[in-house]
Amino acid sequence: MAKRVTKTSKKPSFIPLSVPYLSGNEMKYLKECIETSWVSYLGPYVSRMEEQMAKRVGTARAVATNSGTAALHTALLVAGIGTGDEVLVPDLTFIATANTVRYCGAAPVFMDVEPDYWQMDIHKIERFLSEECRNEDGKLINKKSLRTIKAIMPVHLLGHPCDMDRLLIVARKYGLLVIEDCAQSLGTLYKGKSVGGLGDIGCFSYNGNKIITCGGGGMITTHRTDWDARARYLTTQAKDSPIDYVHEAIGYNYRLTNIQAAVGVAQLEKLDSYVKIKRRIASRYEQALGKIPGITFPKTAPWAFATHWLFTIVVDPLRYGKTNRDLQKAMEDQNIQTRALWAPLHEQRPYLDAQAYRIEVTPHLFQNALSLPCSVNLTTREQDRVIACIQHLAAPR
Ligand SMILES: *Cc1c(COP(=O)(O)O)cnc(C)c1O
Repeated sequence: MAKRVTKTSKKPSFIPLSVPYLSGNEMKYLKECIETSWVSYLGPYVSRMEEQMAKRVGTARAVATNSGTAALHTALLVAGIGTGDEVLVPDLTFIATANTVRYCGAAPVFMDVEPDYWQMDIHKIERFLSEECRNEDGKLINKKSLRTIKAIMPVHLLGHPCDMDRLLIVARKYGLLVIEDCAQSLGTLYKGKSVGGLGDIGCFSYNGNKIITCGGGGMITTHRTDWDARARYLTTQAKDSPIDYVHEAIGYNYRLTNIQAAVGVAQLEKLDSYVKIKRRIASRYEQALGKIPGITFPKTAPWAFATHWLFTIVVDPLRYGKTNRDLQKAMEDQNIQTRALWAPLHEQRPYLDAQAYRIEVTPHLFQNALSLPCSVNLTTREQDRVIACIQHLAAPR
């Protein structure tokens, strides 16, 4: 034990992957909640956060939820996804995206991402829909499963937007709804417009590792006032009468509290400055690491204003001389936290029986990618330590 303590104390200071930064009015607003006893689901901060999100995303409405997962689950229910339906989901994303499809009794069909920006491959989606599905009584039937395809769930991965114009053309052509998973992309713009207002409904997350946080929380954004009303109803236990306990549907306890929203409102005030910092961190990494043979990163599309939520590199073991896991280990020795990307969903135990269409890119990214520290409060000196570590491990040439 003593030996271990000595060893750790010699280590340079810890650099985390991505941690919350609470630098604004969080404490002031929280104090107000406690002093006024507005701590639960009703309260001025919940409404304020919803109004500010709707304004930022450019939708008529926004409904706060207690997690991004709850937002996605509710959005799918509101969109009418149910038992026996299918939803196209990217193979590379955090597993919550696919889980929420299963919560509704529906099945995800996993689609590949393209190698440039790592977003859902729209060319493959179109090919899948035209070759593997058929139209029957106005329904799009998957020829293999015989289930009805109802929606596409693009995930704007790592703070970079999908090509939504192209995706929407395909979705409209086949009569599919578009549910945007924006959990990693608050602040991200597509052709100058915020993600979350481009499809039929959008979902955000304020989990602790996202660009801003309120401890935990989520938001549903939509242009449709009827969907807004339905989402409010389902997230508050589907109460049909304000007085009596009458329920016409199975509801959920999914609402955000005023305490969480107080932190959320304070964080939203900081979002633009955080986005600026994230983009600066990414561009410093790109400049320094772009020169190292065997280290690459996803490109930024011409339509994108990316927030670089988690800055992620790809390590080519042949050219770099080491694998991403070697690099991760070397970083760990320097007390620098990094993370591999999510394992392809079609390889995860709950989804071994799910359909996956022509997956080629996601296993390669899982094998070789590594996310680097990029907290909003990462100092230049800390970033230089990360860069130096990657430079030093590179194969001598
Ligand atoms: C974080 C995340 C979620 C889930 O959000 P929570 O607030 O943690 O429930 C869903 N989808 C993606 C892509 C995420 O990154």
